[in-house]
Amino acid sequence: MELTDIRVVKSLMESHGIRFQKKFGQNFLINKKIVSDIADNCGAKPEDGILEIGPGIGVLTAQLCQRYRHVVGIEIDKNLIPVLHETLSAYDNVNIICQDVMKTDLKALLKTEFSGMRVSVCANLPYYITTPILMQLFESELPFSHITVMVQREVADRLCAAPGTADYGAITAAVSYYAKPRRLFTVSRGNFMPPPHVDSAVVRCDLYDTPPVRVKDKQTLFCVIRAAFAQRRKTLCNALTSAFPSFDKETIAALLIKQNIPPQTRGETLDLMAFSRIADALFAAADSDK
Ligand code: SAM
Repeated sequence: MELTDIRVVKSLMESHGIRFQKKFGQNFLINKKIVSDIADNCGAKPEDGILEIGPGIGVLTAQLCQRYRHVVGIEIDKNLIPVLHETLSAYDNVNIICQDVMKTDLKALLKTEFSGMRVSVCANLPYYITTPILMQLFESELPFSHITVMVQREVADRLCAAPGTADYGAITAAVSYYAKPRRLFTVSRGNFMPPPHVDSAVVRCDLYDTPPVRVKDKQTLFCVIRAAFAQRRKTLCNALTSAFPSFDKETIAALLIKQNIPPQTRGETLDLMAFSRIADALFAAADSDK
């Protein structure tokens, strides 16, 4: 069954009596080469397991089943489950779970589905919930080896941005703690059915075994990152004073100067290493106040 053929997609939808659900971000890929390229470049090895979020009608799932040992697809839309059973009937290495990925116990799933396997994530993510899904995957600290996702082009730009550029944001700094993201290729809107209003890009994140910075307290680091980008027009000193009310402005300014970071700096110019130095200094100062 050629799942990138528009006529096949339409006839499948008709025969199952279903429509595209905008609320679930359903834009299905209809370009065979792009689907193969995603499956080929997700960083996994043939003996690896793959977790796919939002298999849709199974166009990417089928390609993943052909290349990798075991594939699990988590799909929120119950109407698509009978379609997936039809389109993936040729494969015995796939399991489809009807669930909201945001409510899924991924740790338990990895244990039951992928015991003894290295696991990667590969998905064409729904636009409406891209960032929460990505942060859930990273913050779970589960041992994924790669996370390859198709996202809105602007999100891809953000994930891969360098400090000090317009696209650099809290998500860039946060993800850089967990992984090295690289943009694989851009996908224009005409490659989807129905076509979305934006273009997309595929990003592969290669997860670190150990984070590139060692901090005393991870919560403090992420609090510093969030504060630095919360109000971009504020100086770093003012942003941190709002986020850490137990310190006064003078203390924070002195602490930044000690780290060779001018208090007037804008947070968006700093890299993960600088954020980690600030977080450690704040954590140590809070600790000594106790
Ligand atoms: N993988 C298919 C493809 O590439 O053509 C479909 C991708 S479509 C952009 C996103 C898919 O994610 C849809 O099938 C949608 O129903 C599903 N989805 C949306 N929200 C979800 C959630 N919270 N949990 C699991 N699946 C979700």
